[in-house]
Amino acid sequence: MQIGEIKDFLKDEKIRVKKLYAAKHKQGFKTKENFVKWYINKVKRQNYKCFYCETSIFDINKLIDSQKLKTRKIGHGKRGTVLEIDKKINEKDYIPDNCVLSCYYCNNDKSYIFDSKDYKENFGKNRNKYFSKLLNRLKKNDSAKRIMPKGYIYRMDHDTGFAPNVKYGICTLSGCKRSTIELWAKRGHWVIGLGGNKTNKPNKIIYAMEVEKNLSYDQFKKKYSRKSKYLSKKDAGKNVLVSRKFYYFGNKAIDLPKSLTHLIINRQGCKGLTDKDIFKLKKIFKNKYNYGELEIPNNPRKCVKTKKCSKKTSVNSVC
Ligand SMILES: [Zn+2]
Repeated sequence: MQIGEIKDFLKDEKIRVKKLYAAKHKQGFKTKENFVKWYINKVKRQNYKCFYCETSIFDINKLIDSQKLKTRKIGHGKRGTVLEIDKKINEKDYIPDNCVLSCYYCNNDKSYIFDSKDYKENFGKNRNKYFSKLLNRLKKNDSAKRIMPKGYIYRMDHDTGFAPNVKYGICTLSGCKRSTIELWAKRGHWVIGLGGNKTNKPNKIIYAMEVEKNLSYDQFKKKYSRKSKYLSKKDAGKNVLVSRKFYYFGNKAIDLPKSLTHLIINRQGCKGLTDKDIFKLKKIFKNKYNYGELEIPNNPRKCVKTKKCSKKTSVNSVC
């Protein structure tokens, strides 16, 4: 659970619990405000879990949402999605010491039949086992359903000509997204670099490549000895993405079409591309451009190796 989600949950609970306050609560809690305060403190102290089965209400709601667990209809509402107030000793009143928060499933089952301690020990543990089993099943299903992206888009801080490097008609990416895209991208995947503010081309496509190979640095060095001179082991990542199928727009970066503005990324890291996104992007590229180095970098740096070289294309620097 994210902090923001917990905050929202507590906000909703305050409103809900306020409405629950009734005459039977007056003796133990005195006012509506005290009653709400007690509930919120209690739910935090119980770590959002049922007192008996110790399953979190967030997990219970996951099971309900995925229809692994049913709720019980009551009037216009339903029971199951919130932690309910249970009196440990039924004969006693609703006073703070006698009240715990319980999931509907334990509360309903325990009813006024079982002793609180006995119930927790003998039934709560089993319910926890059962809920854990359901949650594990759900996790397995989720990971089976999760489709791995077939491409990635990221924001480029700079476009110096180092990553990507497009010399000799081969686009390579290494040393820039070393712990993500460079490790994950496989043959056939697309990698799109969008301009960040420092490139002066914010949110425009600076380059796109269809990965042909994902090589280790040593393999790259061996297979592409001429090209690999721009990349020292120190500056490289563990892997090098290589392709001849690329469009490098550089300082003539192109706009994303309106239907793909959801791909804009305003942070570090990367986003996965769906098949639909890739289909649209491919169509734009194929209809209008040829593969290759179409323009020069946005942030070119002079060649550091030979002082004679004045071409503003060659670099040894971070992306
Ligand atoms: Zn429970």
